[in-house]
Amino acid sequence: MLSIRQLFLYLSAAFIFLLFAGLILVRWLWFYPEEMSTALSAQQNEVFSLNGVLELKKENLETFVTDYSNWDDTWNYVQQPYDEYVTTNFTTTTFESLKLSGALLLNNQRQPVFNLEYNDQAAIITSNSNRLLHWLQQGGINHLHNQPETLFQRIEGQPYVLAISPVVRSDNSGPQQGWLIFFQLLDNSVLSVWEQITRIPLTRTDIPQNPVDLLSNLNTARPYRDRCLMSPEQQPVYCFRIHHLQAMPQFLNLSIITTFLLIALIPGSIFILMLYLLITPIRKATELLQLNSQDGILRPVLFTTPIRIRELRQLRDTYNQLVYTARQQQARLEQLSNTDRLTNIPNRRAFDEALETTWRRLKRHQQSVALILVDIDYFKRFNDHYGHQAGDDALHRVAQALQSCAKRTDEMAARFGGEEFALILYIEDANSLDATRHRIRECIRELNILHGYSSVSHLLTISFGIAWIRESGQWLDRMSKEEWLRAADAALYEAKASGRNCNMLQMITPDVPFTESPVWQQSPD
Ligand code: GH3
Ligand code: MG
Ligand code: MG
Repeated sequence: MLSIRQLFLYLSAAFIFLLFAGLILVRWLWFYPEEMSTALSAQQNEVFSLNGVLELKKENLETFVTDYSNWDDTWNYVQQPYDEYVTTNFTTTTFESLKLSGALLLNNQRQPVFNLEYNDQAAIITSNSNRLLHWLQQGGINHLHNQPETLFQRIEGQPYVLAISPVVRSDNSGPQQGWLIFFQLLDNSVLSVWEQITRIPLTRTDIPQNPVDLLSNLNTARPYRDRCLMSPEQQPVYCFRIHHLQAMPQFLNLSIITTFLLIALIPGSIFILMLYLLITPIRKATELLQLNSQDGILRPVLFTTPIRIRELRQLRDTYNQLVYTARQQQARLEQLSNTDRLTNIPNRRAFDEALETTWRRLKRHQQSVALILVDIDYFKRFNDHYGHQAGDDALHRVAQALQSCAKRTDEMAARFGGEEFALILYIEDANSLDATRHRIRECIRELNILHGYSSVSHLLTISFGIAWIRESGQWLDRMSKEEWLRAADAALYEAKASGRNCNMLQMITPDVPFTESPVWQQSPD
């Protein structure tokens, strides 16, 4: 069976779980794909803008080479070379401004007319470059067409972009006279230029074994892409990595988790609040009710709630009212079960309990207490002559009179049985004892109940026996309360035997405890 607390916990957990599952589902089906496609299109734009820069680079070089190859001076120079053409047109400034690493002029027989390589570090132009010849021999010759062409190629392990253009006259008249080829080295500085133009971070990478075609992986968003510039023979020439500016969307990022936690905080705090306000008081009240039913003691429920919740208060107040009523009834019952119906004073049962309590107290503390057994004299005759009802009335009045002698809360006067009564009175000294003996006798005499058939008086009289324990204490451990009662009974017997309408005292002290043959002390008056 579930407790309210568990039920609440499970419901909250289920709510949070469903919330989380819903969040994931919505993200998976809706937001995440949208973010991905936004990221992808941004990344595609980045790739396209880089492509534009590369195209521009090729076009620039092609423009330069076409410019030089469609020049009449060059056309003439191929047929009749002269030093001045080279020294004036291919200076270090030319190489620097056009960012050229080499220039190769071929005649129609594909033989070099001039072959210049520029070292930009040392600012030196070398003629008869082996590197450029090497390119020509290794297949460069295949790219000599009658149309300008720009291509990427590796020459002796170095990446180059080169533009080839047929040498023709500026007005395109006359036959083609060979080819002019411009070489540009692709070093790291090229990459930083592209980076500045596109604002996309680029890093150079090694040439991979199997370069991936850029366009084929342009359909999913990625944090970066590798790109290789390829030669016409589909060999990788120059490879670099594009680090996309557009960040990859994350399926679960900090803001999503924070949002979820904030949303989950609502049922969480409602759970804690409800637990604190509703469930804890109910649980505590239930525990108390269980305890009450276990030990039969009725305790009121005393929970308080920071917010006044009407139903909870009503429940508590109604229950407490019930406890109050039950307690009152319990007390009434207890009183009834301890009260003698005829005389309306404590009955024998109540007396036995009081005797037990007094006995225990006597053993713990040093006190002086008298146990007095009272018996009405010739009561049978009273009954016989005045009737049972008159007897009952007399009993009631005697009982009330005796009760007036027991003043302290720990003192008592009880109906012992029939026309006998018992008193427990705290009497400290002999004077008080005499006064008490006198008072008991007088209070009966003052009732002034006529008893024409008594042999000792014309009024109703009593005889009583006193067993007075003086300076009680641990020494009473050797005795029992029954012995105390027997001592009082023996004293009463002695009073009856001495003629009635009198009282006898047996003193019980540490020196003279209970004895079978006590010294009786009759009332002095
Ligand atoms: P003694 O002086 O020796 O005590 O003589 P006694 O007649 O008082 O004693 P006994 O024991 O012979 O008689 C007690 C009488 O008390 C008997 C009974 O009629 C009477 N009595 C006991 N209980 C009640 C009661 O509840 N109502 C009435 N009316 N009389 C009672
Ligand atoms: Mg009697
Ligand atoms: Mg009697």
